[in-house]
Amino acid sequence: MTLHTAAAIMEEKMKILVTGGSGMVGYALQKVVKEKKRPNEEWIFISSKDADLREMHETRAIFEKYMPTHVIHLAAIVGGVFKNMKHTCDILLTNQRINLNVYQVCKEIKVKKLVSCLSTCVFPDKITYPITESMLHDGPPHPSNFGYSFAKRSIDAMNKCYRRQYGCPFVSVIPTSIYGPNDIFSVEDAHVIPGLINKVRMCKSVNTPLVVWGTGKPLRQFIFSYDLAKLVMWAIREYDEEENIFLSVDEEDEISIRELVQIIVEEYGFKGEVVFDDTKTDGQYKKTVSTAKLRKYLPDFKFTPIREGIRETIQWFEENYDIARI
Ligand code: NAP
Ligand code: GDP
Repeated sequence: MTLHTAAAIMEEKMKILVTGGSGMVGYALQKVVKEKKRPNEEWIFISSKDADLREMHETRAIFEKYMPTHVIHLAAIVGGVFKNMKHTCDILLTNQRINLNVYQVCKEIKVKKLVSCLSTCVFPDKITYPITESMLHDGPPHPSNFGYSFAKRSIDAMNKCYRRQYGCPFVSVIPTSIYGPNDIFSVEDAHVIPGLINKVRMCKSVNTPLVVWGTGKPLRQFIFSYDLAKLVMWAIREYDEEENIFLSVDEEDEISIRELVQIIVEEYGFKGEVVFDDTKTDGQYKKTVSTAKLRKYLPDFKFTPIREGIRETIQWFEENYDIARI
């Protein structure tokens, strides 16, 4: 037995339950776990088929079945700016119900760590840049994200209240805009990257112009789901602070929607006309975050260049079109 293996066996056992394990981030995490799982770790991925987390009795039953020591909470109703506007109340209520149940059960079974997922789009709209983690409650969110934002902000409130009153070690990570294989590719409801990938596929096949919504001016920091999965894995093992942490590409990697469209069009080999429909909302203009805190912990972490990540996502979409969530 090598010294390395002996040390790993001595390490505390971790039984890690991942809610939302069938979603885009869950899918990426499953892939990363296959490559980087440690011997002292057992990983369990659950979806809504295993338990409807809106229901307390189902939530309690699935957690009591596995009795995890650690939980990564990804389950949520998620969508792009247009879905968020259309379903603002359902998104608020459903996500709050899921979160309340998961938090209560994590306290009951005394998990050693819970890592939840916020989002940079829940930060105040009128703010100074770059945004830092502590600015979460410094003003109202952009109106397009109202319901989603308050469900996510209350996760931060629960982390702090559970920690302060009951000593529960609950933390949150805050990814920027995520994209990758197994995303939701709906034209109407998806985020911009999967939505446009699907649109470009259709426009290519019927030879029509690509209509991009909004002016193309907004700026975003896009993170590839496999990079995020590696960072979430790091967080469940290493990150313990009460204050949240941004998981994002650096500020200089922020790009405009117009630049993004150019990359998608080139990578898909689309030669048709591209039109910007400025009657549609731009949503938030930008939400540039500082990666200073992340870089203090992980100065050498290398992110996948966006062109490479888009290429991999398009390839996944082409190969899995029949099973993709559209
Ligand atoms: P996703 O692909 O839409 O997956 C959502 C997951 O939640 C699925 O596994 C789904 O299970 C599960 N779920 C939904 N309702 C449920 C319920 N009632 N009971 C049990 N499970 C339920 O989402 P994602 O993009 O991977 O997002 C993961 C996390 O990252 C979310 O918390 C999201 O808010 C956050 N986030 C996402 C982005 C982004 O750009 N996508 C950005 C920042 C933060 P089924 O497959 O069975 O439906
Ligand atoms: P956001 O980052 O929370 O605003 O969510 P999205 O990913 O849905 O949108 C990002 C930006 O892309 C917004 O400025 C949208 O107007 C723009 N956009 C352009 N075309 C599309 C599209 O086909 N779908 C979506 N969802 N957004 C688009």
